[in-house]
Amino acid sequence: MKKILIIYTGGTIGMDYTPQGLMPVPGLFKSQIDTLEPIQDVQIDLIEYEQLIDSSDVKLEHWQRMIQDIADNYESYDGFIIIHGTDTMAYSASVLSFALRGLDKPVVLTGSQLPLVHRRSDGWNNLIDALFAANRSDLNEVAIAFNNKLLRGCRAQKVSTYRFFGFDSVDEEPLAEFGITINWFTKRWLKATRFSFAPVMPKPAKILDLSMRPGFTTDFIIETLNNVELDAIVLQTYGSGNIPIHNLALVAALKAAVARGVIIVNITQVIEGRVSNDYVSSCLHDLGIISGCDMTIEAALAKLLVLRSTGMSLANIKAAMSENIVGELTEG
Ligand code: ASP
Repeated sequence: MKKILIIYTGGTIGMDYTPQGLMPVPGLFKSQIDTLEPIQDVQIDLIEYEQLIDSSDVKLEHWQRMIQDIADNYESYDGFIIIHGTDTMAYSASVLSFALRGLDKPVVLTGSQLPLVHRRSDGWNNLIDALFAANRSDLNEVAIAFNNKLLRGCRAQKVSTYRFFGFDSVDEEPLAEFGITINWFTKRWLKATRFSFAPVMPKPAKILDLSMRPGFTTDFIIETLNNVELDAIVLQTYGSGNIPIHNLALVAALKAAVARGVIIVNITQVIEGRVSNDYVSSCLHDLGIISGCDMTIEAALAKLLVLRSTGMSLANIKAAMSENIVGELTEG
C-alpha cells in the first residue's frame, strides 16, 4: 500500500468565514477530507500544524519546519502534499525545490481560492489532483497542483487573486494537465539524481529584491545598495535586463556593492522571457552582476537563500545562480 503524508500549514482551503473575515480553523480541514471516499491502495496521514497560518505570515521557521517534517518522514512515505495558502505558495515551493536536495519523491503543494466549506470550492479538485501527483513514483520534484495543472514549483507564480486560474508558470510548460484524462508530461520531469536525499536547512540572510521603476526610486535604491548589512540582491530590471545605465550614481553603487561581496542577480520584471545582453543597458556582467536568466523572483530569492545556507564559496554561489539546478531556469 502506498503512503502519502499531508502536511497542513494553513491557507484559505481550511478556513471558515468569521465576522472578522476568513480564518484558519483547527480540525476543519481534517473533518472535510474525512468525508472523501478512501482512495484504493493509498494510505493518507495528516500532520496539522498547531499554529495554522494565513500564508502571508510564512517565515523562515515555517520553511525549516516543512523541510524537517519531510526529512523526518522521508523513508516512511512515498509522497508528500503540503497544504498551503496561495499568497506565498510560490515562495515556499521555490525554497523547498532548492532545499530538498536529492529529492526522489513527489512533494506537491496545493491550496485553493475558495475554502472547502464553500459550496463552489476549487479545493476539492486541487486536493485530488495533488493526491494523484503525489502518488506518482516517477515524480522527483516539488510541484504545485492548481486549477487542473501540475506546475514546476520553482517556476510557478500566483497570477490571480480571484480566478481559479491562480497559478501559472509562463516560462515553463506544465508537468501535467488534469482533464477528462490526465496528461502526465513525464518528458519534462526531473530525473532522479544519483545523490541521496540531503536537505539543506535555510539560514537567515539579508536578501532583498529591488525593482527598477522609472522616474522615482533610484535614489532609494542607491541608499539600499550602500547598506553594509546586505548579503544579496535580486535586481528586477526592465525588459531584457536593462537598467538606466547612464545613471552613474546607480552604476557606481552597484559596482561598490559587488566589490563588498554582495551577490547581485539580474532578472527581468517582465512576466515572460529572460535577461539577455542584447542592449548596452543590459550588459551588466561587466559590473559583476549575474544573469538570473528567466528565473522568477520567487525562485531567485529562494535559490540565493538556500545556496547561502550550504556553506558554498561566494564564487561558487555566483556561478550556480546562472546554472540550472532543479529546472528553475533555461540556460543559455
Ligand atoms: N491569504 C490566503 C493565504 O495565502 C490566500 C489563500 O490561501 O488563497 O493563506
